[in-house]
Amino acid sequence: MKTYLLTGGAGFIGSNMVLYLLARYEDIRIIDLDALTYAGSRENLKAAEGDGRHIFVRGDIRDEELVSRLLAEYDPDVVLNFAAESHVDRSIEGPSLFADTNVGGTVRLLQCCRRAWYDSARGTWREGKRFLQISTDEVYGSLGPEGLFTEETPLSPHSPYSASKASADLFVTAFRDTYGMPVNITRCSNNFGPRQFPEKLIPLMICSAVQHRPLPVYGDGLQVRDWLYVEDHCRAVDLVAEKGRAGEIYNIGGRSEIANLALVKILLSKLRERLADEAIDESLISFTADRPGHDRRYGIDAGKIRRELGWEPLTPFDEGLEKTVDWYLADPRRARSVITGAFRGAGREGGTR
Ligand code: NAD
Repeated sequence: MKTYLLTGGAGFIGSNMVLYLLARYEDIRIIDLDALTYAGSRENLKAAEGDGRHIFVRGDIRDEELVSRLLAEYDPDVVLNFAAESHVDRSIEGPSLFADTNVGGTVRLLQCCRRAWYDSARGTWREGKRFLQISTDEVYGSLGPEGLFTEETPLSPHSPYSASKASADLFVTAFRDTYGMPVNITRCSNNFGPRQFPEKLIPLMICSAVQHRPLPVYGDGLQVRDWLYVEDHCRAVDLVAEKGRAGEIYNIGGRSEIANLALVKILLSKLRERLADEAIDESLISFTADRPGHDRRYGIDAGKIRRELGWEPLTPFDEGLEKTVDWYLADPRRARSVITGAFRGAGREGGTR
């Protein structure tokens, strides 16, 4: 039986990963460590309720005592570190928490794993252990109209969020190079799909449009992002955990580049049609001052993971968008959350992530 310590499993991608792993493997156990910040919710894990293979622990990745106890008690084979502060706008308002959680939390997790997995008498690592850091394409900075990020692209983060993720990545490679720790890093482009917190671009636009509220778009809206349906990200992480070469970094991306404004217009037309609501139109778009340090374009070359592990995105962008819209519309509470305050921390609108 394979055991995972998965952090951040009550958040958007983490919860999708938990459900993906439970559906894919019979004989597994997932220890799900999440602090339940504003971004995490047990509601996201409803589908795993009553499944004895999923053990939820409310706690902080910075709590070394707790993490060490979990490592000793459950002896996981793989640590999947999804836990993070993830919203760029919040990082601009308060960068310290991003350093504490994303950098400090990752370093502490690495330390705990080293203590649990490294046999200093023999100078060897325990067989079959792997630490997988979930990172982002944002660590590479911004592209011009041409070119793609490869794993060799120098790190050049611009926001406090991406700086904290890049710093965490450097600690992961430092543990690899200094202690020989078996690690991987995955760097994925913008995810979308069910259970994303409605401060991020796609759910924010869906939730706002449904309420006929203004759709805040930064600057000229021509910032280009490469979108990937969340399940394709989960499949890639699983493949890296199973078959990735130890020590390697893998880029993950959908080759679905689209400017924010174009994406918002697609969403508006889908929602207008689906809800037969003529009031949902482009007049709802409201341009706001651009985000400071806003990266212009991200584009991922995912050739390495395709060549080495045979990964391809399986969900076309439009199909993923349909599924996402379906999910938000399926329960009126979700689409209303921007207004009702289920969207805690309201007022920070307009993020692209
Ligand atoms: P999210 O904000 O939806 O979820 C983060 C989760 O981490 C929440 O459940 C939160 O409660 C938990 N958490 C935060 N601080 C914690 C702490 N100190 N201890 C334990 N748990 C804590 O984020 P997401 O969008 O699901 O992103 C997950 C990971 O994937 C992050 O590391 C992010 O950098 C990375 N990533 C995200 C995207 C994207 O498009 N969303 C793309 C690439 C990479």
